[in-house]
Parts: sequence; C-alpha cells; structure tokens
Amino acid sequence: MRRSKAFIPTTKEVPSDASLPSHQFLVRGGFINQQGAGLYNYMPLGKIVLDKIRAIVKEELDKSGCIEVQLSFVTPMALWDRSGRADDMGKEMLRIQDRHQNSFVLSPTNEEAMVELVKNRVNSYKDLPLNLYQINTKFRDEARPRYGLLRGREFLMKDGYSFHASTEDMIREFGLMEQTYKNIFTRLGLDFRVVQADSGAIGGSGSKEFHVLADSGEDTIVICDSCAYGANIETIDSIDDEYNEFTYEELQTKNIEEKCSCGGVLSFKKGIEVGHIFQLGTKYSTALEANFNDENGKPRPFEMATFGIGVSRLIASVIEQNHDENGCIWTKSTAPYMVNVMVSNIKEAPQVELGEELYSRLVESGVETMIDDRKERFGFKMKDAELIGFPFTVIIGKELANGLVQIYDRKTKEKTSVNKDEVFDKIMELI
Ligand code: ATP
Ligand code: MG
Repeated sequence: MRRSKAFIPTTKEVPSDASLPSHQFLVRGGFINQQGAGLYNYMPLGKIVLDKIRAIVKEELDKSGCIEVQLSFVTPMALWDRSGRADDMGKEMLRIQDRHQNSFVLSPTNEEAMVELVKNRVNSYKDLPLNLYQINTKFRDEARPRYGLLRGREFLMKDGYSFHASTEDMIREFGLMEQTYKNIFTRLGLDFRVVQADSGAIGGSGSKEFHVLADSGEDTIVICDSCAYGANIETIDSIDDEYNEFTYEELQTKNIEEKCSCGGVLSFKKGIEVGHIFQLGTKYSTALEANFNDENGKPRPFEMATFGIGVSRLIASVIEQNHDENGCIWTKSTAPYMVNVMVSNIKEAPQVELGEELYSRLVESGVETMIDDRKERFGFKMKDAELIGFPFTVIIGKELANGLVQIYDRKTKEKTSVNKDEVFDKIMELI
C-alpha cells in the first residue's frame, strides 16, 4: 500500500473519553473511529487487523473440526420467550419492532437460534458430535460501554455451539476447544491465562475463561506461579468481592495467605476476558425440545457446550499488552503491515528509486508492506510509524550516500545499519 494514496487519518488528538492506551492509539492511529456510544467504524487499518485475527480464529477452529455458519443477526423475540431467557438478559437485549409490530432482538448471543437450526435437522446419534460456529456481529446494550473496542455495544464475536449424544463426549469437546483456544491466543502472540469461571446468565456447570494479562483488565484473577491453576475471583468464596474494585497497583500490595493445592504461591492479576467456554448440558435443548434418537431409537435432548471469543476485543487486547508512550506495537501475526519502507526525502531520486525497488520486491514476495512516499518531514513520518506500530521500518535517508539504510525495530527501538544491497535479505530473515 502506498501511504500517499491510503486512507489512514492519524491524529494527535486524544478522544476525551479515552483513558486506555488501546482506545487512544487505535483512534489516533486511524484504525477505528467512534460512531456513537459503544459503536465503532473500522477504517482500513482496523479492518485489516480485524480480518487477520478472524482468519487465525477460523483456521484453528476448522483444524479442530468446527464448521462455520452464519446466523441472522436479528432474531424473533418469540425465540427468546421459548427459552425463557428474555428476562435474564434484561436491558442488554435491544428489542426492536418491525412495521407490523412484530418484536425482534439484535442478537446478544445465539444459543437459541443455533438450537433451532439443528433441531429436526440432526436426528440421529450417528450424526453427532457437531460443532457449529459463526464469527458475527453481536449487540449488547451495555450499561457502560467504554474502553473503546474492549466494551462496545456492537462488537464481533466468535460463538460456537456443540451438540453431543453424551456428557462424556461434550466434556471431550470442551477439552479440545480449550486447547484450540490456547492455540489461537498463542498464535496471536498474547500472554494469557486460562481460569475457572462463573457460568453467569448463560447457565450450565463447567466454565473456563481466557484472560489476556493487562494492568487495565476489568477482571481480577488469581493465578499460581508454579502450576496451571487460575481462577476468576468471582468463583473463589474466600476472597471478597471488593477485590474486583482494586486497581492493578493496589492488588500488588495484597498477599494471598492460602497456597495453591500444588504448594505454589498464588497472586492477583488483572485480566481482559477474551474467551469463555461453557459446558451447557441440556439446558437449551430441553427448553426448546431439541432431541436426537439414541442407539435404542429413544429421543433424548442434545448435550451441549458453547464457546465464545471476543474477536474485536482482541484487537484492543493486543495493544493493551503491547504498546509504549508513542503508540501501538503489533505482534507479528496481527500487524496490519509487517514492513514500512520510509523514503525520508522524496525529492532525493536515489532514495525514491531504492524505496520503490524494495517495496516492489517485498510485495512480490508476499510481505505486507507499506511505502511512505508522502511529501512530509522525516520526523513527522517517523512519529506516524511509531503510532501505527509497524514491526519494522526501513529508513532510506542521508546514509544512502554511503550505501547504507537503517532497519528500525518497533519493539526493541533498535536501529541497525544495513548495506542497501542486503536489506531485502535481512528483512526476509527478520519477519
Ligand atoms: P464480560 O464479562 O466482559 O461482560 P461476558 O461474560 O458477558 O463478558 P460472554 O457472554 O462470555 O461475555 O461473551 C463471549 C466473549 O465476547 C467474551 O469472552 C468477550 O471476549 C466478548 N465480549 C463480551 N461482551 C463484549 C463487549 N461488550 N464488547 C466486546 N467484546 C465483548
Ligand atoms: Mg463471559
């Protein structure tokens, strides 16, 4: 992409309601812009990152045997009345009426719709298990939409629902999805923990959350320093609710007397919930009379589990974990462009020539590359590159007279001088 032709409206202005780095930098870097409370537009850079995350999520789910569908975003109110969940969801569920005064809902989640889809279409135990998912818009009329993409009202969620003939098989799938989610968050380059969680309004028993560790996280979790144990404090009886109100700094001063069952030391962390998996049992299949015939031809309700990922929340989570005072630092798998070729002074023909040549070669080699070919000062362009957070910027400047260019690493902030004839190979090595 040519920066001179791109639509990347970066700005110095910090939105007045943006307290978190991810919110500030994603707006300032021209990734997203706010349309209304909890409503965001994705501009080209934001859209690229969203699509990248979405593709990784899809790839890993498909590898694990999940099947993608796409449900209607608007669901009839009658569906929610049948499951009896309309009241539980309360005001978060935005209700609308059509011209005939029929009531509908902007789906906040889709257990009911997915059960209805499978009901009477999957009739035999022989057709089970089945794990269907979608990556689709959700709407929740949150009481306090805030923190940019972390808590929107309209947001993108991956929601999956699995159907089984037995509890054992459902628990097996739950384990498989736990591993699949770990693979997804690892590929995204995130530092995360899996914790025991409350089942909340969705209902059911076994429930685990995936938290990206970040000082700004809204959840408080307890983790063990030597085993895999972790829990959301909502689930721990001996720990008071008030802990949830403490900031990250305050939590560092609190000691946990109790030891983990493995003997390890427990400590508090702040986390952003990016994924949640639940063992549902037959709650929805019973309520909606969704049955299959077992080996003896006897109708039985499906055993179910449900699996969610906050796809748009993940964009902000990457930045909460990876930023500095100058802007975003994307992980390699989430960066909108891996390399930024910066022509310092476009009036210098040799700089332009080398920049264009390198840009073409990188693009031809499949490297996602931006060329900053704008007629702007070097300092201005560099600030922009810092804000956007390209993992690598090749600076083609005055040193070119001596046959040298610099490779700037956004994460380490190191500049390395490289011979102009070796820069392509060096970049290919780095990425
Ligand atoms: P939270 O506790 O943060 O409100 P939740 O428990 O209500 O989330 P789930 O119903 O488990 O959320 O939804 C699955 C995933 O969708 C969550 O793990 C989270 O990553 C994401 N998510 C939920 N609400 C929002 C929101 N308002 N904005 C962005 N992502 C969200
Ligand atoms: Mg949850």
